[in-house]
Amino acid sequence: MVAEKYQLKCVAGSEVVVDHYTNTCPEGHDSLLRTVYSRKQIQRRTGLGMFNYLDWLPVDEAVPTNASPITYKSEAFGPELGLNELYISFSGYWPERGAYMKTCTFKELEALPTVQRVKERVGGKIVTVASAGNTSRAFAEVSSATGMPVLAVVPSSSLTRMWTTGEDHNSIFLIAVDGDYSDAIAVGKQLAKLEGLVEEGGVKNVARRDGMGVVELEAAFAMRGLPDYYFQAVGSGTGAIAAWEAFDRLIADGRFGTRMPRIVIAQNLPFAPMVSAWQAGRAELSAELDMKDAEQAIRQLYADVLSTRNPPYSITGGVYDMLSDTDGRTYGITNAEAREAERLFECKEGIDLDPAAAVAVASLLKALDAGLVKQADRILLNITGGGYKRVKEDCALYHIEKRMALQPAEHLLALDEVKNELREFVRAL
Ligand SMILES: *Cc1c(COP(=O)(O)O)cnc(C)c1O
Repeated sequence: MVAEKYQLKCVAGSEVVVDHYTNTCPEGHDSLLRTVYSRKQIQRRTGLGMFNYLDWLPVDEAVPTNASPITYKSEAFGPELGLNELYISFSGYWPERGAYMKTCTFKELEALPTVQRVKERVGGKIVTVASAGNTSRAFAEVSSATGMPVLAVVPSSSLTRMWTTGEDHNSIFLIAVDGDYSDAIAVGKQLAKLEGLVEEGGVKNVARRDGMGVVELEAAFAMRGLPDYYFQAVGSGTGAIAAWEAFDRLIADGRFGTRMPRIVIAQNLPFAPMVSAWQAGRAELSAELDMKDAEQAIRQLYADVLSTRNPPYSITGGVYDMLSDTDGRTYGITNAEAREAERLFECKEGIDLDPAAAVAVASLLKALDAGLVKQADRILLNITGGGYKRVKEDCALYHIEKRMALQPAEHLLALDEVKNELREFVRAL
């Protein structure tokens, strides 16, 4: 039964693989694997949150949750812009509209099926995640709610973003690294090699991508069809690749339309490596041309979750292929443009935004100005995060204490110490 629900397929070489939490092509292709589900027409369930779309998630069982993205037709912001068919997908906390994602970003859609996939495919292992904040917070929330263990590595500057809405942190092992996002990732990679741990996998993890694909599935049911355009702010581009893959499945389903939506991605200037490479017509990123003075550029970002330095741009099945296949567009957005768009959106729609979502809103305004989108186009705007102000009204936020602090250069030396701490942690689970 497990083998029948789905298989994995290498985009580059078409090799078919049975899933043992497999995240790379066994033939060594530099390519993403994709899930191929045996059910071509999805049956939407009810009452299971995002697991209403269980048919197209790479897990057997649903995790109990009410977290799910919502889609609604904009009655204020859309008309203000002269758009007749602006649909908003919202991933965050907004109970008045039925959105209950308490960590306030679409990272929660990645964390829930990932933790379940680990449990089902490599049961007993502790999933290891490294991030600048939003991803680790989402995994921590799922861990706190389900008791499934998570090891999270974050830069110490992100510790303030580490909270959950549940009080129980026994299953969360939080490590702070003195350094930036890239240092945290490097430490996470080393730690994941330890016995009993498994690397979460990032963009290569099909549970992350198919989890985020729920945004497009929910939207297709709400809109009763596919949009003409899809807008999203990207850091790694994982969410936009997930959207492309989900649209592809929806087209094959047969009930939602036949035309692939055009995918528009936005990054925050002055750090917009994929915008820079795409607009220059390059299939490869260049550190020299696309990420000059990266550290200084990243420090200036309003939406610092969009600061991924090694995004899956040129890998087969990645961002370059997605933009090519969807006749996509890219926009670079300044901090001032993002803030202005955020102000307008908040005022019209009545919910606060994650800075990254503000970048997406600004890109829609730019596309309108540029004449790319027209009044009658059906547009899906992915608000990937929001409701931080709103969640504080309803929930207490419990700050997560770090169990260990590591220096970036010292992490190899400290492995024994980490092992000891981990043993204690596992014993207490
Ligand atoms: C991570 C994040 C993004 C970017 O997503 P990618 O999949 O890395 O491109 C956008 N918005 C919010 C709120 C995020 O947390």
